[in-house]
Amino acid sequence: MASQVMPTYARLPVMFERGEGAWLWDKQDRRYLDAIAGIAVCNLGHAHPAVFAAVCEQAGKLIHTSNLYRIEKQEELAQELCRLSGMDNAFFCNSGAEANESAIKIARRYGHYLGIAEPAIIVMESSFHGRTLATLSATGSRKVQEGFEPLVGGFIRVPYDDVRAIEAIPDNNNVVAILVEPIQGEGGVRVPADDYLLQLRRVCDQRNWLLMLDEVQTGIGRTGRLLAFQHTFIRPDVVTLAKALGNGVPIGACLALGTAAEMLTAGKHASTFGGNPLACSAALAVLRTLFREQLVERAAILGENILQGLRSAIEGRPHVVDIRGKGMMIGIELDQPCPDLVPLALERGLLINVTAEKVLRLLPPLVLTDDQARLLVDELSRLIVGYFKITA
Ligand code: PLP
Repeated sequence: MASQVMPTYARLPVMFERGEGAWLWDKQDRRYLDAIAGIAVCNLGHAHPAVFAAVCEQAGKLIHTSNLYRIEKQEELAQELCRLSGMDNAFFCNSGAEANESAIKIARRYGHYLGIAEPAIIVMESSFHGRTLATLSATGSRKVQEGFEPLVGGFIRVPYDDVRAIEAIPDNNNVVAILVEPIQGEGGVRVPADDYLLQLRRVCDQRNWLLMLDEVQTGIGRTGRLLAFQHTFIRPDVVTLAKALGNGVPIGACLALGTAAEMLTAGKHASTFGGNPLACSAALAVLRTLFREQLVERAAILGENILQGLRSAIEGRPHVVDIRGKGMMIGIELDQPCPDLVPLALERGLLINVTAEKVLRLLPPLVLTDDQARLLVDELSRLIVGYFKITA
């Protein structure tokens, strides 16, 4: 039967029925190694007992009351996220795009608070911030924006990982903030210079701008720190989270510090579902499990092992341009578009993804075992080598 789901995704011809850890099983009971984790969402793997227990327990008590009332689990989660990140407060929503909308609204309010009538935010080339009108306008991809004009104004675009381009922006304009991913995900797993965030913090301090980090993909242990900015000693003014925060239960968060934390007051922003007891219980279980099972440290070590494994297997091979990443966020850049590799991998029981046309992206669950990591490296290396032999 033809699907009546709006065709916004070019879906692969597979339907999964159940999962456990890094394994997924389809309707025919065929097993797949999941190296994409629902696009950086299921960091604890599939069907983690701690998330299962938290969701069941909360669903049996109370799923939703609305934000007209205090919500114990929401307050607990805000406290935990602030303790872990050094931020002051949290707004909860349901997705990454909404978390970034909140950040954009904070920047705009901050501008008005400074007396700037038309505040602007610096954003990056090849960035990705979501599909709502404001976040697709902030996104550095014509493909994402095309057909949705007029775009939301107030964004100034500069190249990624280029502090000089930002410093060259005159001091007397309307800029109030920088919105940036610590590592670009959709843009091709682009890892900037080690001191990039530090330099951005310096510029923001000099110019009285907010530094707003989109950690929707990099957050919650993915890069080998709970948040990617914690590889440095800086603190941002705003951090956005979603994806892995609920391990699949939809929840987003916008964390803020100092003046930025005072911008969204009663009546200025809202979400009916945002931070409901169910989603917050899942997120609390995720955070507790990450620490109990030492998964953040594991992401750093295992990610490095996978990178090294891939480098020794395929670095320098024809068509392999670069192998890069941090923690369990890994990209293999090829010298030509490689969309066929995804269905080929699927046929072999391996789930991977291609982003920015030429970059094979791996975002495995952080619970991947050592054996599964070896299997991933072996299968993928064989696949890439074989693919180019066939197509040469
Ligand atoms: N920001 C980044 C860095 C992302 O990678 C994504 C999604 O891929 C988003 C924002 C949008 O998140 P969502 O799809 O939950 O709206």
